[in-house]
Amino acid sequence: MIHVDQIYIDGRFVPATGEEEVDIVNPADETVIGRARMASREDARRAIEAAVRAQPDFGRAAVADRVAMLERLQVAMLAHADALRESSILEYGGPATRSQWVANYASQCFGDAARTLSSYVFERPVGVDGVSTLQMRPVGVSGLFAPWNAAAGTIASKLAAAIAAGCATVIKPSELSPWQALVITRAIHDADLPPGVVNVVTGRGADVGAEICTHPDVAKLSFTGSTPTGQLIARAAVDSMKRVSLALTGKSASLLLDDADLRVAIPLALGAAFTNSGQACVAGSRLLVPRARLAEVVEQVRTAVAAMRVGDPRDPATAIGPMVNQAQFDRIQRYIRRGQEQGATLLVGGEGRPEGLTRGWFVRPTVFTDVRNDMDIAREEIFGPVLSILPVDSEEQAIAIANDSRYGLQGYVFSADAARARRVAGRIETGTVLVNRVAPDLLAPFGGVKLSGQGREFGVMGLEAFLEPRTITVG
Ligand code: NAD
Repeated sequence: MIHVDQIYIDGRFVPATGEEEVDIVNPADETVIGRARMASREDARRAIEAAVRAQPDFGRAAVADRVAMLERLQVAMLAHADALRESSILEYGGPATRSQWVANYASQCFGDAARTLSSYVFERPVGVDGVSTLQMRPVGVSGLFAPWNAAAGTIASKLAAAIAAGCATVIKPSELSPWQALVITRAIHDADLPPGVVNVVTGRGADVGAEICTHPDVAKLSFTGSTPTGQLIARAAVDSMKRVSLALTGKSASLLLDDADLRVAIPLALGAAFTNSGQACVAGSRLLVPRARLAEVVEQVRTAVAAMRVGDPRDPATAIGPMVNQAQFDRIQRYIRRGQEQGATLLVGGEGRPEGLTRGWFVRPTVFTDVRNDMDIAREEIFGPVLSILPVDSEEQAIAIANDSRYGLQGYVFSADAARARRVAGRIETGTVLVNRVAPDLLAPFGGVKLSGQGREFGVMGLEAFLEPRTITVG
């Protein structure tokens, strides 16, 4: 049994003092594998106080010192990569190959941030005839919020940017990922940062999260999670005028142009749709297909999805692991039902568990055809392995449908003509558009438009999200 009863404040592991204990359940077989004690509101306050004490010295730390800290974090994360992969597999059923990628990525974030920081110019002339100087300064104590579906990656990328900027932090991992949070915290501890620079309080949003969002000494919130929670956070933050970055819900479209080589494009589009078992903010869950090519696309998708291995997330051949918990399982069943009720055609998959799997929160990878963009399955984030195929009659219509969404996180364009694909990409209203690839560029800005969020992470813009400009103008 795993016992998670410690949080991390002021450079030390200390007992969490919340009253609530939650089970850690292996979603692949529904067995209880551990218990975690939640942090309390008081724990959050103590964590914030530790960060407040650390901020003045840390904010003045030399760039070379911060680079060295980031490099130590990179090494420490790598040393814990196996444990990180294991905790992802066991705690939320992350497929092994994805869990390994995330474990490595957690380390890479710190290396990337060290390089970005090394070449960043914190002070530069601005304005008329150089009378003004722009100074980019740490924004101050920052609250970092992570969702359960991307615990390690989110914590690492936010923390890397905050450390690069010189901001002390209070990290609030999801109550659904206490074990992953503990593994990451151990790595952070091994990096030997000054006490109070990083604090980790795993607990509920309603108390621990709310305390961080409203505490007057927290200057910045960087949140990744769902749009409704992001909206709550932004409202709570405004009274003390905290700076807020929000990375939220997505409902991304993949545009298959009529010249696409299907042997290349379909595996990529399916990769976009089913990554992380479909529990991904960037899931390309709407596939827009030219009507003239619909029949061949449908046939290839049917064959590929029917062949997807669902099951033990530890098996590298597994494409789709279990959903994180029963609530997530039930949610996906509801959407599969609603898709049929609203008139979409079930191509493959459907309700219930895959054959042969009687335990665990496994769902059947599901594809609908004849989907209209006004159906719930095309408008709402399902957060599971459910793909909607929408036929389109022209490139213009594909662009219009892609943009007819309240969300705008990521888009995908697949075409044999790179220049044409770029032109189309330039008309997609999302923060990122990937052309003929599904792997992100981890040094390029990432974030959403519309209800998918505000602000950008990664690279220079990610660093600047933790900086506050000050102008000095001399007469
Ligand atoms: P969630 O919004 O339920 O929770 C996210 C975090 O917010 C958790 O740590 C949670 O405890 C905390 N929280 C909840 N209520 C709070 C409150 N009132 N005050 C402060 N904190 C509170 O999201 P989730 O279910 O953990 O994650 C899934 C969602 O996250 C999906 O919608 C997905 O698209 C989104 N997501 C977005 C990105 C992105 O980069 N845009 C990445 C991953 C996940």
